[in-house]
Amino acid sequence: MPKTADRLNHFTESVIREMTRVANRYGAINLSQGFPDADPPPEVLAAGKKAMAEGPHQYAVTWGAPRFREALARKQQHWMGLDLNPEAHLVVTCGSTEAMMCAMMTACNPGDKVVIFSPYYENYGAAAILSGARPIYVPLHPPEFVFDPQELRAAFAQSPKALVLCNPSNPSGKVFSREELEFIAELAQSHDAFVITDEVYEHIVYRPYRHRYMASLPGMFERTISCSSLSKTYNMTGWRLGYVIGPETVMAGARKVHDFLTVGAAAPLQEAAVSALQLPLAYYTTLQMDYTRKRDFFLDCLDEAGLVYTKPQGAYYVMVDCTPFGVRDDREFCRWMAREVGVAAVPGSSFFHEPVNHLIRLHFSRSEAILAETGKRLQKLKSLA
Ligand code: GLN
Repeated sequence: MPKTADRLNHFTESVIREMTRVANRYGAINLSQGFPDADPPPEVLAAGKKAMAEGPHQYAVTWGAPRFREALARKQQHWMGLDLNPEAHLVVTCGSTEAMMCAMMTACNPGDKVVIFSPYYENYGAAAILSGARPIYVPLHPPEFVFDPQELRAAFAQSPKALVLCNPSNPSGKVFSREELEFIAELAQSHDAFVITDEVYEHIVYRPYRHRYMASLPGMFERTISCSSLSKTYNMTGWRLGYVIGPETVMAGARKVHDFLTVGAAAPLQEAAVSALQLPLAYYTTLQMDYTRKRDFFLDCLDEAGLVYTKPQGAYYVMVDCTPFGVRDDREFCRWMAREVGVAAVPGSSFFHEPVNHLIRLHFSRSEAILAETGKRLQKLKSLA
């Protein structure tokens, strides 16, 4: 039998999605794979019904339906403070997973190096390897998840082609400060590297923290490829609507990559999602308030269960420290927890390049009733401590 490609040996299947299967096997509350349990806004659902009845049902323009790009440019222009031309600066993709792959393949030649902060969302390593690039990992040291400027400098000394920036950060919940972003921007400029962002949690940030777009920093639009999606902002992870934003010449390349990867995102869903992009600003304020309430509620539950964690500044994940339970193998611990406690988490080691085995990730984009039940179940851990 012919052998499959060697590149497959350099990454594993998603542990996040494996934990969803484990959760289902044991009937555990699934706080592993991070997706909301709320539906998209009602006007979007209504627009979806209409699009199904009336179309369009055939291919949209490959780099995005004009109406969708128009609405997206207008919305992002407001938040990013940039002048965006829907004809030149955007490519609509099948979720931000494709956006990241497309960005990576647009920026990198085989053999190029890409700086990735660790812990990191597992896709980045795989996307770098699939595009022929080689990851260089720079630690975000727990529990505060800060990088050491010397370590980042040392990584740039290896002349990387790009740095991946997940901000707000999955899994750590970190929101990069202005100073941190400026430091990264300076290094990218002086070493002539791209910054590829993943900003899918751009609207889920807890006060006093605030999200700043790397592309909006002085001189950075020209070298930033911003990836994001509608998934988390409008509770539509299954619609697979993402996008890449960048300067015209880079986007001309991204269009080509995207065209041959997937041709395009679903046409009727793009049509329906225009209504999401046109929601008033109050929508984003409410989203932020709702998530703040959820976060605070869930952290109270964790406090009651006596758990130690890093308080998330953004996104909807919390990293819990399992050192008090004598955990040596976080994968084994997560499987045990799903089976015996009835709560599924993601083992932290799947996000770290370094040998870090004492953290687990829980997501809290669930109803308060489910979070309360989770809290009750987690009390069982007390007997282990
Ligand atoms: N981004 C989410 C997470 O980190 C969902 C990942 C996925 O399965 N696409 O859990």
